[in-house]
Parts: sequence; structure tokens; C-alpha cells
Amino acid sequence: MGLTGIQIFKLLPKTNCKECGIPTCLAFAMNLAAGKAELSACPYVSEEAKAVLSEAAAPPIRPLVIGAGENVVKIGGETVLFRHEKTFVNRPGFAVLVSDTEADAEIDARLKRFKELKYERVGLVLRPEMVAVKNESGDPAKFEALVKKVMAQTDAALILISDKIDALTAGVKASADRVPLIYAATDGNSEALANLAKENKCPLAVKADNLEALSRLSDKLTAAGLKDLVLDSGARTLRRAFEDQIFIRRAALIQKNRSLGFPTITFPCEMVKDPMKEVLIAATFVAKYAGIIVLSDFQGEGLFPLLVERLNIYTDPQRPMMMQQGIYPIGNPTEDSPVMITTNFSLTYFIVSGEVEASRVASWLLVMDTEGLSVLTAWAAGKFVGDAIGAFIKKSGITEKVKHRRVIIPGAVAAVSGDLEEELGSGWEVKIGPREAAHLSAFLKMGN
Ligand code: SF4
Repeated sequence: MGLTGIQIFKLLPKTNCKECGIPTCLAFAMNLAAGKAELSACPYVSEEAKAVLSEAAAPPIRPLVIGAGENVVKIGGETVLFRHEKTFVNRPGFAVLVSDTEADAEIDARLKRFKELKYERVGLVLRPEMVAVKNESGDPAKFEALVKKVMAQTDAALILISDKIDALTAGVKASADRVPLIYAATDGNSEALANLAKENKCPLAVKADNLEALSRLSDKLTAAGLKDLVLDSGARTLRRAFEDQIFIRRAALIQKNRSLGFPTITFPCEMVKDPMKEVLIAATFVAKYAGIIVLSDFQGEGLFPLLVERLNIYTDPQRPMMMQQGIYPIGNPTEDSPVMITTNFSLTYFIVSGEVEASRVASWLLVMDTEGLSVLTAWAAGKFVGDAIGAFIKKSGITEKVKHRRVIIPGAVAAVSGDLEEELGSGWEVKIGPREAAHLSAFLKMGN
């Protein structure tokens, strides 16, 4: 990143018109410097400033998009070497490989697993996003048929793999609407594939045998007008591929090497035969620093840990995961149902709501915005205290949903009950719930 937020701010119109969706030009400048906003969001930047800012605001690893519709995979856009420095931005896409030499039954089974292996965790759906379609038969018609089959059966973002230009052309023709990644330009075919990628506005993977050759080829393609490239250093051992990932990231971020400033693709499926070792290698590349990870198959026992690892590493450590403030009905609550209150830290919400569901006592759960802090932390920070909770309850609208005036607070903050009763005024009763959310189910079943 060439410019700081303040330097960028000096080049903005400074009208604070909010049309970029951000309240002030200064906040927009800070987001731009952090790679969290696009310059195009401000319609009032002068052409002169645009020229300076576009270069300065571009993240050192170019972001790009593969796929279309709801299942779009955005990769690249990274600005730091280590997550704790700021955050990692775009999580790597997981792809499963299918080949046009495989039996239909095997392909169908793999696509079925691709569709079915989805997990809900802390309110998010964790799932793989990509299918890598490989042309091993050499037959363009067979390849095209497989591409069409994958498109008909899944919403996957596609990677089209072949060393035959006519097969890739047929595959791209069948799937251009879905903006597939074309794999891969090499020294021998780069001009033809550059044209194919440009004509169809698709991203292009670049493959070489070492980083020097990769850098040369990426320069050649960039000079030909291609911007959306994905790098494959050609390494097919864990050690070399791991070293290459780190070298590419460091070159782009520290040395400002634009030739290597693109997201990468890795192939654990070509490194080992053992499925669990493949998962271990994939786990390494989730942490450092793949943009796409291609696996030979998805099985729940391997995929789920990878999805959770990815979720954890690609969660912004500066922003706690939080729920929207509001009233959450659990079951089919009535005007007599209990009312509970908790904070909007996602994990707290899911533990509490899970316990309420387990109790089978239909309830109203009030979730108060404490900036994503858990109950005790929010209390210690003065955000989940009697007067604040009381003010929230009064304006929440819960009094229109229940005829009683009782609220259950977490036992961990029993000390706020006096202040809360005072804030709510007469007619209200504050009940103290269990100290641990894990005991809530039993507490509710006892008729509290
Ligand atoms: Fe400032 Fe541009 Fe955003 Fe308006 S749209 S607030 S001028 S950055």
C-alpha cells in the first residue's frame, strides 16, 4: 500500500456526502488504505486523484472473482502476512476435482457430496464452493459434456483444466456465464489462452515450473492486457509448494513485486494419495496462503475441519462476530412466554438460543447490542449494566408482544438486577437466570 489513510483523505472531495455508504470521507480513506473499500464507490473523485489513488489503493495481491450468481468466489485482496497484523480478507475456495475419464457414477457421487456437505455454525453456512473439471480424455466434446453436467447439478464456481486449447475453448463456451477460471497458461499456450480469457472475460491461471519463470509469464500476460491471474508455481510437494506460497506472499507485500501480486492455486490432490494426508496439506495452505485449494474428494471428516479452520483464520480479529440487536422468537412464543435478555456476541447467542430450544419452552430472547462482547465482558466494560439494559428493554418493543412484565437476566450479572428494576420502574419483575447458559434449559423447564 503506497499511501496512508490521511494521504488518501487529502485527495478526496471532503464533502462527507455519504454516497459511498460510509459516513465521512476520512472513514472512507481509512477503509481504502486498509483495502476494505473500493475507490469506485466514491463518484466524486477527480480523474487526477483517481490516477494517483487507483495505483496506491490497489491491494498488493490483486482481488478477483470466479463464478457468478450467489456462489461467487472472491480470492486475493490480501494486505498482510499475518492475520494478527490486521485481518485476512478473502478466504480460499475449496474445489473438488472431477475428470472426464471417470465413470459417471463416481462423478455423480462426488457432485452429490459437494452439494450435501454443508454445515451451520454460529449462524453461518459453511460449504465448499468450487468444482475443478479436468480434461484427461483429450476429447473436447467429452470435456464440454462434463462441464455442462457439473453446471446442471451444482451452483459451483468452475475451474476448467486442460492442456488442449480446443477443449478449453469448448468448456469456456459452455460455461462463460459462470465466469470459470481457465487453467492454465504456460509458455507454450499463453497467447491463445490470453485471447480466450480476454474474449470471455474470464480469469486465467498461470503455471510455470519455478517462480522465476512464473514471474516472467505473469509479466507477459499482464502486458497483453490480462489483469485477473491466478498463480501456480508448479510445485507438487508440500515443502516446495509451502515455500512458494510464502515467497509469493512476501514478494508481493514486502518487495511490492507486481509480477507475483496475484492469488495462488494449490493442488493437494496431486501431492499425496492418502485422503487424510491430503486434508493435512490443505490445512497448511488454508493458513499459508492459497487462494484456491483443489482436493480429490470431499468427505465430511476431512472437509468439516477445513471449513472450520478457514472460518477461524478468515474471521476479522478486530470485529467480534455479532448478531443484530433485536427480539428473537424461539419456538412459537405467546404473550405469556418468558422473556430473556443476553448480549449480541454470536457465540453467546447460539449457546443461549440452543439451550432455550432444548428446553422446548417457547420464549422471547432479547439480544442487546454490546458491540459483540460476551455477557461478563460487556458488564465489565459498562455496556451490559442496569440502566443500559432497562433502556434497551423499554425501546425494544417487547411490551407489545407479552402481557406480563418479567424479564430473566443472566445469573452471571445478577448484581445489575437492582439498577435494572429501578430503570424499568414499578410493575416490572427482574428474575435471575442460571449463572451458566448451559443450565438455562433446566431452569426454563422448572417453570421460571
Ligand atoms: Fe466522501 Fe466520496 Fe464518500 Fe462522498 S462518496 S463521503 S465525497 S468519499
